[in-house]
Amino acid sequence: MTYLQQMKSNVQQHLDNYMKAVKEMYDHPEIGNQEFASMALLAGMLKDYGFAVETGYVVPTGFIGKYDSGKEGPTIAYLCEYDALPEVGHGCGHNLIAAIGVGAGVALKSVIDEIGGKVWVVGTPAEENFGGKVSMSEAGVFDDVDVAMMIHPSTQNGLGGRTNALNPVKFEFFGKNAHGCRPQEGKSALDAAVLTFTNINFLRQFCLPNTFIHGIFRDGGLAANVIPAYASLEYYFRGTTMPYVKEITEKAIKCAEGACVATGTTFKTSIYECPYDDFVINYSLCDMLKEQYEALGITEIQPVREVPAGSSDIGSVSYRCPALHGYIKIADTTVAGHSREMAAATISPEGREGLLNGAAALASLGAELIVNPEKLAKVKAEFAQSMEKLGK
Ligand SMILES: [Zn+2]
Ligand SMILES: [Zn+2]
Repeated sequence: MTYLQQMKSNVQQHLDNYMKAVKEMYDHPEIGNQEFASMALLAGMLKDYGFAVETGYVVPTGFIGKYDSGKEGPTIAYLCEYDALPEVGHGCGHNLIAAIGVGAGVALKSVIDEIGGKVWVVGTPAEENFGGKVSMSEAGVFDDVDVAMMIHPSTQNGLGGRTNALNPVKFEFFGKNAHGCRPQEGKSALDAAVLTFTNINFLRQFCLPNTFIHGIFRDGGLAANVIPAYASLEYYFRGTTMPYVKEITEKAIKCAEGACVATGTTFKTSIYECPYDDFVINYSLCDMLKEQYEALGITEIQPVREVPAGSSDIGSVSYRCPALHGYIKIADTTVAGHSREMAAATISPEGREGLLNGAAALASLGAELIVNPEKLAKVKAEFAQSMEKLGK
């Protein structure tokens, strides 16, 4: 563990500054694609630490900080998230993710002139809904990156795991208005929506395990005495891979077709938020994170989670380069994700400790990959193999 102590003391040295940023974002949470002040804060810090920084990168609230040792070597990228949630502020702890990314980048930069390579800190906004990482992946940002890493605060320490592919689909139904007492002159878009909702509920039985379908009525008419000419549903279709999720989406569209035949209405579908790929696990990187955690004295490390949970835009990154999405405990298991209590944990002593250990682990892991080409080769070979298996 050559670099760990060095990395940890570097993070320690700047920890007050990082915690100040965590608190600043906690006090002024900004939701996805509106994180202009958070972007300015983080970009400013990176500039002060000697990175070449570009703001408004790919998306309006994205940024990138680069430092090049000028010597041969891989590109290590640390990912920052900094979007908050309505109602609960930084209830997902993305303010801490941001500080961990900056802390890891600054620490690795402190040795990179000597060991070679490049370090990037990438500001990827709007994780919760609009997927900054998806836009950046599509723009090719991660194509020249050797490894991309981040750590998410949690109620347990962990090496990460599978996430679901997600397809957000909106169904809109078009009928004909009529008086409630002369319904024979109208066609109910609401009835079509209700039947679609019901048909999709019947579809569930025939889906593979770990398929999640959840929808809501967005529009269902405006007055009880008017046959609604317009209705809409918003759905999330989730499953283990995007091709399967698309298959389920096609079946759901058949459900709407049937409903429209029955009601004499028409419909159209659209993708109303950002689709997220599933996350491709890189076990070699997970093993390396485990080593770092153990060397830091972190215990009760959850193994790689094979059952998919949630969805995240890190999925798209994991199809472009080897990616790591670890977890660090900052609260106990009674604290819910997306809660005010989780937000409060980011500015607690446990949050501070999580920042220190998370940033030190990621920085040291980056250094290990640079100085041990055989470890990097193993990570990259595993990535290539996974892509081949997935037909990419
Ligand atoms: Zn999150
Ligand atoms: Zn979240």
